[in-house]
Amino acid sequence: MLKVSHVSKSYDDILAVDDLSFEVKDGEIFGLLGVNGAGKTTTFRMIVGLLEKDQGRITLNGKEIDYSLTDKIGFMTEERSLLLKLSVKEQVYYYGTLKGMKKDKIEKELDYWLDRLHISEFKNKRLKELSKGNQQKVQFITSIINRPKLLILDEPFTSLDPFNVSLLVEILNEFSKAGTIVIFSSHRMEHVELFCKKLAILVHGKSVLEGDLKEIKKNYRKKNIHIQGDIVEKDFFSIKGIETIQTTSNEIIVTISDESYINSVFDIVKKKNNIIKFEVEDPSLDEIFVSIVGDVYD
Ligand code: ATP
Repeated sequence: MLKVSHVSKSYDDILAVDDLSFEVKDGEIFGLLGVNGAGKTTTFRMIVGLLEKDQGRITLNGKEIDYSLTDKIGFMTEERSLLLKLSVKEQVYYYGTLKGMKKDKIEKELDYWLDRLHISEFKNKRLKELSKGNQQKVQFITSIINRPKLLILDEPFTSLDPFNVSLLVEILNEFSKAGTIVIFSSHRMEHVELFCKKLAILVHGKSVLEGDLKEIKKNYRKKNIHIQGDIVEKDFFSIKGIETIQTTSNEIIVTISDESYINSVFDIVKKKNNIIKFEVEDPSLDEIFVSIVGDVYD
């Protein structure tokens, strides 16, 4: 288990991480979310020991993280830190050696992952000759070459197309099943919803929402009601609790600020003819994120 307890970090007068605590169990996939500058990268750098914390404790299975745990940790940084003059093979060998791996083990793992990520043809090419997305896949390989127990990925999906996003998700799910703790950041909530079970949203270095994604969505009182049939926006103008009404090509989506307003919407709809759909849905993570972050900044 990874335990982050009451960790803080300032850069001169900027408080980047403010008394942050969270836990991630073995095999869990945890999303650390937040707007630009919320403190995600600073948190990651403290976890892997690249940055000294001012206060608090970070432990992996009860042991304070230090350089003796390097071979158990994988870290993919946000600023893509590849040495572009090196070949893919040289770059991965470099990281594998830093993790204490033997040459033949690195070679075996490298061939396996190049094949899994469909970039075997680039093994002996210089990194500068690769596209951004393929460079990113190489960087991902450097972070998993040692099959880490703790894998930290800062914005791992940024330059990837949808096919490669699902490939990465498939691989991360395999690591999770094998017991690896996976922590990642992303600004793309649809990617987070794809595979993340637990998350925390940071604002100004503090966690403002944390927990199980399904529970967060279920307990969030704002809901979207999807209605199909002979109904128009103005039918709802008289009722309370409505935040927005959107008309799409085949339905109306009424967003209510609290689930207690479902009945008032239903009362309007049931008086109409030809209603073929009335479905109450939890909001998307994107909506929750925007609403929470918006409330804090207001
Ligand atoms: P992003 O989503 O944009 O990558 P983030 O959530 O990762 O942002 P951090 O990079 O951790 O945020 O930055 C948190 C705060 O600390 C910001 O206000 C940032 O300007 C500041 N900061 C980060 N690194 C440094 C540094 N080396 N020196 C001074 N201030 C820094």
